[in-house]
Amino acid sequence: MADLFIYNSYTRQKEKFESLVPGHAGLYVCGPTVSGESHLGHARPYITFDILNRLLIHLGYKVRYVRNITDAGHFEEEGRAAQDKVAEKAKLEKLEPMELVHKYTSLFHKFMEQFNCLEPAIEPTATGHVIEQISMIEDIMAKGYAYEVNGSVYFDVKKYAAHYPYGKLSGRVLDDNLETTRELDGQDEKRNKADFALWKNAPPEHIMRWKSPWGEGFPGWHIECSAMSSKYLGETFDIHGGGMDLQFPHHESEIAQSTIAHGHQPVRYWMHNNMITINGKKMGKSYNNVIKLSELFSGSHPLLEQAYHPMTVRFYILQTHYRSTLDFSNEALQAAEKAYKRIWEAYETLQQFSVKTIPAANNAIPRAENCGTELDSKIQQLCHECADFICDDMATAKILANFFELVPVINSIRSGQAQGGAVQAETIALMQHTFKTYLEDIFGLRPMAAHNNNKLDGVLELLISIRADAKKKKDFATSDLIRNQLAATGIQLKDEKDGSVSYTID
Ligand code: ZN
Repeated sequence: MADLFIYNSYTRQKEKFESLVPGHAGLYVCGPTVSGESHLGHARPYITFDILNRLLIHLGYKVRYVRNITDAGHFEEEGRAAQDKVAEKAKLEKLEPMELVHKYTSLFHKFMEQFNCLEPAIEPTATGHVIEQISMIEDIMAKGYAYEVNGSVYFDVKKYAAHYPYGKLSGRVLDDNLETTRELDGQDEKRNKADFALWKNAPPEHIMRWKSPWGEGFPGWHIECSAMSSKYLGETFDIHGGGMDLQFPHHESEIAQSTIAHGHQPVRYWMHNNMITINGKKMGKSYNNVIKLSELFSGSHPLLEQAYHPMTVRFYILQTHYRSTLDFSNEALQAAEKAYKRIWEAYETLQQFSVKTIPAANNAIPRAENCGTELDSKIQQLCHECADFICDDMATAKILANFFELVPVINSIRSGQAQGGAVQAETIALMQHTFKTYLEDIFGLRPMAAHNNNKLDGVLELLISIRADAKKKKDFATSDLIRNQLAATGIQLKDEKDGSVSYTID
């Protein structure tokens, strides 16, 4: 197993990854709040940690990847009082809360599939783990680090900070102004501003509510991740990931809760991806620049010049190191789309090379095996470097840079014009293996879906006109064959009332 180095946000340095149990790796990533649709900013953590999951699998680890679903509300919105967002939105849309949760969970899964993200091993829901959360809160109270006021329970941050290094992950200093939550209701109940809710008393109009030792209410947001990560990965586990915006207060609170409940830090390696900005600005409702994923894929947001394919977005995210900020613009996405097509075409060309016959490129003079030319050594070096890059805190952009150096080499081999001499079969095989490993296995890229393919559109138009001719001649065997064979490949033809034929591609 190659050595993997990752940047630990907690210690602020790159560290060699050594899993708690040899050969196994536990990974927890904060999942979506399913009170609404995911936006562009949400795409980055899920794609970043999908690549980490794929990399760990590639390195031979048996990975348990846990990504939760926050379906019990209590998420905060900018400048607003915290409330049960799921219940509130449900009222607006006149849906039952669970109906809303189901709708947005399904949509989230669809987006993950479009991004080609592997499914987590476990996807626990907050509402399915209320008992575990109550039990953890009781434990924290028994240890004297939480207190109850009017049916709500708060974590005593000041007391915690007197005994443990509070704020180490996020770099925050505990002072009188530090607030761990923007919630307005309940502020007067807390002993200190920095205290955060473990359990909230539910007012009568609150729809989502559970019985607890403190009356009917609902769990705080932070406790959900602590309860579920420890349940499925253990009280100490390998990697916790998420966006940088979650470091405070969410992850800082997770550390505090688990440290009291279990007597030690929960996580061995904290990993955080940086944020996405839009044309240089932070994404936010006040800037009117929050682009939902469905808008991104359909091009329907006013800021978008066109629709962007999920693979373009994925490729674009890979082109920048996950710890750097990533600025979104139409120009950047369009450049990524072109670059992705270029690299994928070269990959397809590469796959067509037969390694048995390839040494004939450029009418090569027969050479002894393993006696490569300068070009061979250059290609080999570019390929071998990829393993170092990926194991150096997932330097995906550097790997793509190497691939872009290889693209003209592949194209010149195809045309028999390879500069610097012929390329050995072994070298071609190495390139084929390297492209497949990184592009498909680790980066999770795949060809763009057929519906963005003009060539396919042309072929379909041709088949539709052949079918129309066949019908005219009453050759129903042929017309049915075309319809059925297309349906079998996921392309549905539909005869419209005006006599035209439309089609949909699954
Ligand atoms: Zn979380």
